[in-house]
Amino acid sequence: MTCRNFERRIAVCPGSFDPVTNGHIDIFERASRLFDELIVAVFHNPNKKPLFTMEERVKLLAAATGHIPNIRIDSFSGLLNVYVRQQDSNVIVRGLRALSDFEYEFQRALLIKKVDPVIETVFMMTSSEYSFVSSSGIKELAKFGGPIAGMVPESVEKEIVRRMAQI
Ligand code: ADP
Repeated sequence: MTCRNFERRIAVCPGSFDPVTNGHIDIFERASRLFDELIVAVFHNPNKKPLFTMEERVKLLAAATGHIPNIRIDSFSGLLNVYVRQQDSNVIVRGLRALSDFEYEFQRALLIKKVDPVIETVFMMTSSEYSFVSSSGIKELAKFGGPIAGMVPESVEKEIVRRMAQI
């Protein structure tokens, strides 16, 4: 594969975002200041059974990121390295919380490096106030009527409460 001259710094932040949390939003806000454009890409993870459909997750992300001017929300399935190249990018941004994230992220980053050495994975450390926030934790809390305010955007809070009431 030929190397392009990456003049505009475009980064891709891939994830399940099922649903997006304030921990994710914090990473988007900080990463968006480092690049000309940040593409948040919802991907289909075959290992996870999502609560929200791909379309719903894209909508929730769009509603929660309107204040970030250089962000674009997209979705994809297939190989991440191929998607990143299609966007004229060579940077993947991922957030890191605890040590437990590290092993998975480390292996993924090395695998991507192996298939396309031009693509760099950049890690951003969580902000301490969100270090315990995860999409799965939010779903678990919401399932049992626990408080999730302040951990997810308001639009997500409303939607998840409505969704849990239907289950
Ligand atoms: P995936 O299914 O790929 O793990 P997630 O939607 O769970 O996708 O997370 C997307 C990215 O955001 C991952 O890099 C994850 O480590 C990171 N992330 C999730 N929650 C937080 C948080 N509270 N603070 C910082 N990064 C986070």
